Amino acid sequence: MSWSEDSSSDADILAGAQLDTLAVRAGQRRTPEGEHSEAIFTTSSYVFANAAEAAARFSGEQPGNVYSRYTNPSVRTFEERIAALEGAEQAVATASGMAAILSTCLALLKSGDHIVCSQSVFGTTTVLFEKYLSKLNIRSTMVPLSDPGAWESAIRPETRLLFLETPSNPLCEIADLAAMKALAEATGTLLVVDNCFCTPALQRPFEFGADIVIHSATKYLDGQGRCLGGVALGRKELMDEVLAFVRSAGPTMSPFNAWVFTKGLETLRLRMEAHSANALALAHWLRQQAAVERVFYAGLEDHPGHELASKQQSAFGGVLAFRVRGGREEAWRTIDATRMLSLTANLGDAKTTIVHPATTTHGRLDAGQREESGITENLIRVAVGLESIDDIKADLARGLELL
Ligand SMILES: *Cc1c(COP(=O)(O)O)cnc(C)c1O
Repeated sequence: MSWSEDSSSDADILAGAQLDTLAVRAGQRRTPEGEHSEAIFTTSSYVFANAAEAAARFSGEQPGNVYSRYTNPSVRTFEERIAALEGAEQAVATASGMAAILSTCLALLKSGDHIVCSQSVFGTTTVLFEKYLSKLNIRSTMVPLSDPGAWESAIRPETRLLFLETPSNPLCEIADLAAMKALAEATGTLLVVDNCFCTPALQRPFEFGADIVIHSATKYLDGQGRCLGGVALGRKELMDEVLAFVRSAGPTMSPFNAWVFTKGLETLRLRMEAHSANALALAHWLRQQAAVERVFYAGLEDHPGHELASKQQSAFGGVLAFRVRGGREEAWRTIDATRMLSLTANLGDAKTTIVHPATTTHGRLDAGQREESGITENLIRVAVGLESIDDIKADLARGLELL
């Protein structure tokens, strides 16, 4: 595609560019139409000039598009832009966050391999590891996120991956990324960080030595709750394996979704800072409410992860949790009294969402496991959006004042 080689956003123009510039411009290639905004390439296949070119494309002798399960210009723009923001050599986009996790595991692991995983990861990640990867004899051990000793003693000779999210959902526990990297290095394992909650706008795990970063693009990368997507990022040698798997298995990102995420990245830092400012203000306000027993947000100075989060993150993100005085009944009353907040399990949206983890996102755990991981019946999670903080507080006050 000669037009794509010599048009805008050339690597040399952006060499050394700052994050805000990369977020707006990395990965764009203009077509001869001269469109200013990135085009959407909704095509499943591509035509060749002649039979010899078709043969050369198929054999790989000539680079270029063949079929959208292999390459698509809209998907490539998203991959290049998110790779620039994370500081990764290569990105592989997928149909969802779960597809990114599955593709990474199936590309890099084989029967007999072992994963050590934080207990506080996205619920479906646990199901994927424990129910499905175990069928392929890829076993996992779940350990407390912020207990390095537990990670160390769970590692076996056949351990290949250390998998975590930081901050955790919903209690905002923080992992020490540098310490986890040291452990990965000492044990010959790969450190995989699901960076969904912070995004590269707030935390860049590769700077702490992570080998692979995963995103559910569905959340903050989109930022407005429209599309499902995911991405895995890392060194070329690892991502080539993931890409080969995605091409063969087919959990490909749709070009339309890639375009939505590409445009989402342009405003990512501004949105993440606004989410974080609203969440911090809400955390301070919640703490003053008589009906609130405890607030979990790493931006609060007395949160056990505050110091570490301050080192690793430029702000504390949009998700917080709090316990009301009482139990399930009081938590449900608070949730049901809201009129503006959206009662939905999604997060990373401009609209503030509220959920009762014990009976939704964490409902598959038994009561003992929930209690052990702090997901009590009186816990409420709020993924703070971009509405006026006064209106968010007023909506929560409706219920809290009843308790
Ligand atoms: C939502 C989520 C996922 C899964 O992403 P999907 O896009 O829903 O498949 C993985 N990890 C985290 C932390 C998430 O919040």
